[in-house]
Amino acid sequence: MSYPKYFMEKGGFKMDISMKHGAEKNPFITLNPPERAVIFMQQHIGVCNGPLVKKGERVLTGQKVGDAVGKMRVPVHSSVTGIVEDIREVYHPVLNRLETAVLVRMEGSEEMKPLPSTNLDSRKEIVDMVREAGIVGMGGAAFPTHVKLTSKGVHTFIVNAKESDPNLVCDVRLMIEKPEDIVKGIMLMVKALNARRIIFATRTREGEIPELEEIMLEHGIEIVRVTPSYSVGSEKLLVKELLGVEVPTGKFPPDIGVVVNNVSTAYAVYRAAYLKEPLISRGLSFYSDTTGIDNLWFRAGTTLRELMEGLEHETRRYDRFVMGSLMMGWSVGLPHTPLLKYSAGLTALTPEFPKPYDEQLKCIRCGYCDSVCPVDIYPSLIMKAEKEDDIDALKRLHVEDCILCNLCSYVCPSRIRLTKHLWDGKDKSRA
Ligand code: SF4
Ligand code: SF4
Repeated sequence: MSYPKYFMEKGGFKMDISMKHGAEKNPFITLNPPERAVIFMQQHIGVCNGPLVKKGERVLTGQKVGDAVGKMRVPVHSSVTGIVEDIREVYHPVLNRLETAVLVRMEGSEEMKPLPSTNLDSRKEIVDMVREAGIVGMGGAAFPTHVKLTSKGVHTFIVNAKESDPNLVCDVRLMIEKPEDIVKGIMLMVKALNARRIIFATRTREGEIPELEEIMLEHGIEIVRVTPSYSVGSEKLLVKELLGVEVPTGKFPPDIGVVVNNVSTAYAVYRAAYLKEPLISRGLSFYSDTTGIDNLWFRAGTTLRELMEGLEHETRRYDRFVMGSLMMGWSVGLPHTPLLKYSAGLTALTPEFPKPYDEQLKCIRCGYCDSVCPVDIYPSLIMKAEKEDDIDALKRLHVEDCILCNLCSYVCPSRIRLTKHLWDGKDKSRA
């Protein structure tokens, strides 16, 4: 069966992704650095950082301003040169709670603090450099990249350039603008892992980015065209799609000898290794219902308002913002909310854009949610078990396998927000 070209499908469900068609042709617009950068201590999965600087101290661009002890620690760096104006709690748009942030007021001319020099001859040197650069998974998970690079017995390294979200094109734009640099980043990670096979999984068509394809072939990287199905870049689903192997429940790809990293992560590794620049900036796709998609290069700690002003949009024209992917992102109400070092998308909607239904109706047992689930679990049954606090049933129904993609909520004709029950069910099953 053939579908119109710009639709994604799963279990009979089709999603219009025409909003992103052609948007990868829009070059990155580099935004001015924020006047006051808000640098959260927690911008990764793992141990929360503590501030390394004091109020009133002068810091340089790229200077480490927060770090912690332990394996799952990833430092954070100032994205501007200036004075630490304050260290206080600020609303964190992903964690949905107040979190400690260092606020740096930009002052004077920019001065960069480069990362320490290293030969990058050994795995340890590469891993240490990646950690010092504060690099996390740029696909949205923010998992510490250096931890992945310490995986043992890895035979296959997969670069995830699937970018399946309906409003994101910044990865493909990066592939068009920085092909050589991306490959340099990939090869460094491969060196650390000592992987034999390298697969580049992309939704682009053959010949669409010839320069990138040529360099990849020179380096023995297999390019695999994946279907543009929506699966939130799930590593497990990608491994299954590419290698035909299931990663068991409770295990991760490195447990079966596979490491997956996002293409923007590879570029961040390049910048750290070759430009001595930690992760303080990245590409982002900005979608508004009035202008479509723009690709931006922004510094961490830039607020939504500054981003909009940089594009000459009036913030007050919009009444809703979604940070991240349209399907998986978080609604943020305040225009002074800062972007994180791994934020890949931002959507701004005017009051004219149709609003979601508020009222939830009763479940009519249509089974749409179950049929659309990409990991083949039963969200309708999990919702029931979660409401009844039935922990045994939650475990039996494999709530842990849920990748929180939101598809079940999206298709429900009764407008039931199933994903909230999946979140809560996961929490309860772990307690
Ligand atoms: S949110 Fe979870 S349960 Fe719902 S469709 Fe996605 S993976 Fe399945
Ligand atoms: S899609 Fe909605 S109405 Fe249909 S079974 Fe799932 S929860 Fe019930």
